[in-house]
Formats: sequence, C-alpha cells, structure tokens
Amino acid sequence: MKQTSILGLTLEQLTAWLIEHGHKKSRALQVWDWLYRKRVTDFSDMLDVNKDCIQLLQDHYVIQTLTEHLKQESKDGTIKLLFKLSDGDLIETVLMRHKFGLSVCVTTQVGCNIGCSFCASGLLPKKRDLSSGEIVEQIMNVQHHLDRLELGEKVSHIVVMGIGEPFDNFQNLLDFIKVVIDHKGLAIGSRHITVSTSGLAEKIVEFADTQLQVNLAVSLHAPNNELRTRIMRINRAVPIEKLMQGIAYYLEKTNRKVTIEYILLKDVNDRLEHAAELVELIGDKRNLLTVNLIPYNPVDEHSQYQRSEQESIMAFYDLLKKQGMNCTVRLEHGADIDAACGQLRSKQMKIASA
Ligand code: SF4
Repeated sequence: MKQTSILGLTLEQLTAWLIEHGHKKSRALQVWDWLYRKRVTDFSDMLDVNKDCIQLLQDHYVIQTLTEHLKQESKDGTIKLLFKLSDGDLIETVLMRHKFGLSVCVTTQVGCNIGCSFCASGLLPKKRDLSSGEIVEQIMNVQHHLDRLELGEKVSHIVVMGIGEPFDNFQNLLDFIKVVIDHKGLAIGSRHITVSTSGLAEKIVEFADTQLQVNLAVSLHAPNNELRTRIMRINRAVPIEKLMQGIAYYLEKTNRKVTIEYILLKDVNDRLEHAAELVELIGDKRNLLTVNLIPYNPVDEHSQYQRSEQESIMAFYDLLKKQGMNCTVRLEHGADIDAACGQLRSKQMKIASA
C-alpha cells in the first residue's frame, strides 16, 4: 500500500477518515495535537492513542517524507534548506528572521511552467505539483529545527513564494492553508500568510471566493503588456487588463490589501518613465495596493539581467511616493548564501549532473 504524508490532511479530513475506520471523533483531535503541538515524528510516540489506531495510521500514512539534503545558514539568521522528496527531486525552503517574527517561504511545485525570464527556477519545466502534505512538511521541518534549538521560537508567518505557481496547484494550496491556520494545531494567523501569484486572474477570483483572509501578492514586474510579455511569458495568456480586473475583484471581495511585486532589472523596467506608467496603471487603487520594489539578485543563468543601480532604485521609489503610492523596497535576506529563488536548487542539480 502506498504511504502518503498525514500532514496533507485537514483536521476535517482526518476526522472523517478516522470515523470511517471505526474511531471516535475525539481521536482525531488527539492525533492532531501530537502532530502539531507536541510535534512527534513517529506515530508510536503518540502515547495516549490506542494501539489499533496507531497501527491504522502506520498502515496508511507516514509523518515525514522529506529528508534534509543541504542547509545553508546566513550571518543574518536566514536558513536555506534543500529537501529531497521521496521520488528524489529537490525543493527549497527558506526561514527568514524579521523584527515581526519568523517567516518561512515554501515551494509548491517541482519546477515551474510560468517561464519568468529572470528566474532560476523557471528554467526547469514543472515536473509535478507538491502534495499538500509536502508543503506542510516544509513548515514542520523548519519548526522541528527551531524546537531543537530550545529557544521557544515558532514559525509565525508564511510566504508562498518559493518555486512554482501556487494557483497552478490550487486545491493542495487550499488544504495546506487550512492545516497551518487551524487553531487547534499550528495556529498561524491567516493574516500572517501571503500567497504570491504570477497573475492567474481567474484563480485570483476563485481564491477571493474562498474567504480565507490571507494576503495576496501579485508579480507585475512591468507597467505595460509589451514589456511584461518580454519579462513574463504568462502575460500572453493573462494580459495586464485581465490581471487588474482579478485584483479589483479580490480587493472588493476580501477587503484585504494586495501587494504588487515589481522586480527592478537594470535598464529594462527601472526607468522613471516605467514608474510613471505604473502610477497611471494603479490609478485610484493606490490606497489599497502596496508596491514592493525588489532589487534583482543576479543569477548566472540569466546574465542578460543586471541589478539596478541604487540611485535608480531610490529614484523609482521616490517617484511612486511623491504620487501618493504605498511603496517599499524589499530587504535582502541571506545575501551571503545562494539567496535568489531557485539558486541553491539549480546549483545542486548542476553538481548532480556534472
Ligand atoms: S518567478 Fe515564480 S512563477 Fe515565475 S518562473 Fe520563477 S517560480 Fe515560476
């Protein structure tokens, strides 16, 4: 019998499954508590769960399917982890330390089909979606690492910004969110979770309808279709007008703020005329949107792109601010390790195939 990660089940699903197999509803809460509060990694450590139930769980599920392949620690406390999946593929997860808490960036797919021209991860086409269990496991692995340090630290924030397009793995994304926000388990606040999409407008609408109350970040990266298509292939299928309609729906339906991600590429999209165009595009939504400017982290695979000069970054920022926009410049984490998304994984893949 194929074993899958139990961490992929929501509490509702686990309860239904245990009832179906002759156990009481309260048993699910017990198991849930051992998984997410006491955080055991072996079913046999669930001391007050009866033997029949332990056997049933062992016959159908495992708690860990990921193994740690590599870990890089930065001077600023950022930890980049490379996990090996049960079928041998590698995925990246990052822990970042902020003033407001500990945030984990998770991966949702092996490879990615969106094809952003600046991205190290996008070089490898999507091989498969991660299961909800494999996404939850990334959080649990980081939490186990923190538990071992015995400092009482807890993952408080999640960004779904790692490799992959989360809305292209929609149901598993929803199950993942339901597991981590469950107040009887990890209890991470939905408002502490940000899902980042390359701009799949129809899925933005569907996501708004789930009423999950998480934050949304949209990768725009260019203020017009011509330039955006050059940078992001997805713009051919979902042009900016359609994307802005999806964002407007999300804003109206959820009343949550949305972040516009804008990666600054030297002499490509970082000129003042681009900033002015961006102001025009956002128009009267300026109070509801925050523009996050991201200085590009050069990767060997995309030598056509360079990091913008600090002067250009600040001039771009100043123009947006003067026009009354909410705007931030992303702080860098782990500058002394392979910090760019997908960089560590693609390096390891090269080593493995050399
Ligand atoms: S930036 Fe994200 S969506 Fe774009 S190719 Fe890379 S992983 Fe995929």
